[in-house]
Amino acid sequence: MRRVTIFGSTGSIGRNTIDLIERAPDEFQVVALTGGRNVALLADQARRLGAGIAVVADADCYGALKTALAGSGIEAAAGPDALIDAAERPADWVMSAIVGAAGLLPGLRALRHGTTLALANKESLVCAGQLLMDEARRHGARILPVDSEHSAVFQALVGEDIDAVERIVITASGGAFRDWPLADLPRATPAEAACHPNWSMGQRITIDSASMFNKALELIETREFFGVEPEQIETVIHPESLIHALVGFRDGAMMAHVGAPDMRHAIGYALHWPDRRDLPVARLDLAAVGAMTFRAPCETRYPALRLARSVMAARGQSGAVFNAAKERALDHFIAGRIGFCDMAGLVEDVLERMAGDAGLGTEASLDNVLAADQMARTEADRVLKAGAFRH
Ligand code: NDP
Repeated sequence: MRRVTIFGSTGSIGRNTIDLIERAPDEFQVVALTGGRNVALLADQARRLGAGIAVVADADCYGALKTALAGSGIEAAAGPDALIDAAERPADWVMSAIVGAAGLLPGLRALRHGTTLALANKESLVCAGQLLMDEARRHGARILPVDSEHSAVFQALVGEDIDAVERIVITASGGAFRDWPLADLPRATPAEAACHPNWSMGQRITIDSASMFNKALELIETREFFGVEPEQIETVIHPESLIHALVGFRDGAMMAHVGAPDMRHAIGYALHWPDRRDLPVARLDLAAVGAMTFRAPCETRYPALRLARSVMAARGQSGAVFNAAKERALDHFIAGRIGFCDMAGLVEDVLERMAGDAGLGTEASLDNVLAADQMARTEADRVLKAGAFRH
């Protein structure tokens, strides 16, 4: 039996992971499941899977979780320290699917135990790529990508030498507003931004797809995960979302990963790696698909892509600053305090104000990353309060 833990089990990636695990109940022993606040679903999942412990991140939810698990023999715990304790429990495979920088610490701690970390939480790599990779190397742990694009690249690289790679092309759907007139974007609402044309995902990543902040994170994630130069990484809009990524080699050949837009493919690949197993995903009928189309992304519509390039050039703690400012901008957009287009303006202002800040350490240490994250959140709120950001 393989011991598995799922951080963020109540979210979109977490639920898809559980769907796969429930199809092979004799193969897995569930060590720990975690959620943010959704106690009812977390307790239900823990009971169904016979988990050893269920942890809810919000400490105020402890009583409700304890009550929901009464009589089950399943331990209940709550709060950020309990998440870290869950990461300390021996597991062979850990899914990192908390949303945002909150996923960093549990993932980092799991790596210290030499586990295989299935990484959906791209924010970890954006904030602290070098730290995570060094930690994995130091402890003989392995990180497997779960983001569909990065899983696609990973699969295209099987048997290949990374030095033979000329370019990596990450595809993008273009999100909810890809065909909207530019003039209408400032009036776009959170509800409209949260409607993805092809993928079913959590609210935050879906809005980030509309702004392409998600793709911006993925460009940085590609650099951190595969160790290629920023100039080798491209993105192209592919509205059908059937090709997830392409790898171009020095001889001019390109390998594309093609499949239905269903996260259970990338999750299942990471779950069963290095084997391939039957997965409950739709098979493509290419004749029915007919055509696949591509277009270059417009940086006026998607300024986040330009910001990602500047972050990759700046290095240091700029990834942590970028992600934290983006998370705050998204919070403010969802709360109705700023408009859709203001998110990029706010993030760009925070990046500029914090560039070369003497308080930002240069070394890739956890303390430096956490300090940069906190400073950027404070700066984003301060800039917003002063109304002093680009509109
Ligand atoms: P969801 O919002 O659907 O789920 C997030 C999970 O994290 C939930 O379990 C949530 O709990 C929990 N959570 C939220 N805030 C905290 C916190 N502060 N501390 C601890 N746990 C918390 O997100 P997704 O599943 O869509 O995304 C998860 C990660 O995977 C993200 O990093 C995203 O970028 C990445 N990803 C997602 C894809 C997708 O298809 N959804 C595709 C590729 C990558 P609760 O339910 O109680 O709120």
